[in-house]
Amino acid sequence: MKLLLVTTQEIFVYRKNRLNDRAAPTNDSAPFPTNSPDGCKSGDRQEHLAIRVRAAHVIGTCRHLYEGPSVRPICATCGGQITEADDSEEHIISAAIGGRRTVRGLLHQVCNNQAGQTWDAELERQLRPLALHFGVQRQRGQTLRMAITTTAGEELLLGPKGQLTMVRPNITRTPTPQGVNLQITAGSDAQAREVLEALKRKTPHIDVEGTLATAQVRRSYAQGAVQLQLGFGGELSGRSLVKSALALAHQAGIPVDRCGDALRYLREADGTPCFGYYYVGDLISDRPAEKPLHCVAIEANPETSLILGYVEYFGVHRAVVCLGRGYRGEAVKCIYAIDPRNGATFDLSVRLAFDEADIEAIYDYRMDDASGRQEAFGQVFGPALHAQREAERSRVFKEALDYAWANCGAEQNEMLTTQNMATISELFAERVMPWLQHVEGASAETARRQAKAFADFILRTA
Ligand SMILES: [Zn+2]
Repeated sequence: MKLLLVTTQEIFVYRKNRLNDRAAPTNDSAPFPTNSPDGCKSGDRQEHLAIRVRAAHVIGTCRHLYEGPSVRPICATCGGQITEADDSEEHIISAAIGGRRTVRGLLHQVCNNQAGQTWDAELERQLRPLALHFGVQRQRGQTLRMAITTTAGEELLLGPKGQLTMVRPNITRTPTPQGVNLQITAGSDAQAREVLEALKRKTPHIDVEGTLATAQVRRSYAQGAVQLQLGFGGELSGRSLVKSALALAHQAGIPVDRCGDALRYLREADGTPCFGYYYVGDLISDRPAEKPLHCVAIEANPETSLILGYVEYFGVHRAVVCLGRGYRGEAVKCIYAIDPRNGATFDLSVRLAFDEADIEAIYDYRMDDASGRQEAFGQVFGPALHAQREAERSRVFKEALDYAWANCGAEQNEMLTTQNMATISELFAERVMPWLQHVEGASAETARRQAKAFADFILRTA
């Protein structure tokens, strides 16, 4: 029995395709009250606002919120009071896309679960191609995979770091005079074992371990290109995005009830989305080069009376949020930015110097710019794709060279004969041609010429 383990690698053709984003703007001005519904007038309110603002500098704890009945937190989604018994840990950035830091006193446990299963689940679904592409390490939970169909109709599973594997094993039966010869092609050891064990139940003499031990591992390349839908938007993921900004504002000590725009959007089924995409410039002034980035920033500014937020996913989806208006507390700024691949935090500055007119323009799609989006995608994807491809190319070339060297017929410590060198060149070319053809798009003739030229160069300089 012959067993092939096949893993495939592929170039990505990223196609960004916006889903139906936030509802088209209406001319209804009602959702934008210029005065806060519950202005900070009473002494009591002023005082607890001050407590919370001071607490903003102690990022990472929200225990102060339980310091008395007047500061008992209010659930962001249902509006009920939160007690220590029904409080929950809410991730500022969803854990499913690599978020780590949590806040308490923002959502009831029940409301947290509900938001997780709807808003955050949809956000995760939309961002899954990116999470897989960048190999996001989640704190818990199994490794993500996603079924995809290539342009050539191949059904594959997209796994971490863009690796593709077969969805189903393939079994070919060839009758021979001695019986039937089975050739199994499987995507992984586990899949191969599963097939062999199933076969063993019908044909007990099959040696599962022996067959696995002699399996050949081969890499092949998908014939078609992988097209990923990188759309982002819609009511559910929009609420997850706003919830992230609200969670950071809450952690920074801004009372949730000051964030009227966010609360209306989160609580009301037909609430007006309080965010818009921003691509006319980069709001992060010291963006780390070539890194995918999750960033949440908030800025409460008594001069503009706005509580603004900024949320960015993987460096490519960028939105400005207006959490609330009529803010009269202390100026507060807070930024939480991480590398989604490992949770490492970045120190960044985010510029959120917008007034009400700017916010209207952002909501009205006037700050969403196609070339700006393209640039944002290019900044992150260009280097990532290039690095991934270079790493795979090096691996393929090294393996091919090792194989050619080991099989050229030369004895150790002897000079290579002309015949040995010709064999090396031939075997090397045979091994790297699939890469050059399928990934770099060379014709068979060009691939062969390039491979042989590379081998000859190595032999001359070795
Ligand atoms: Zn609640």
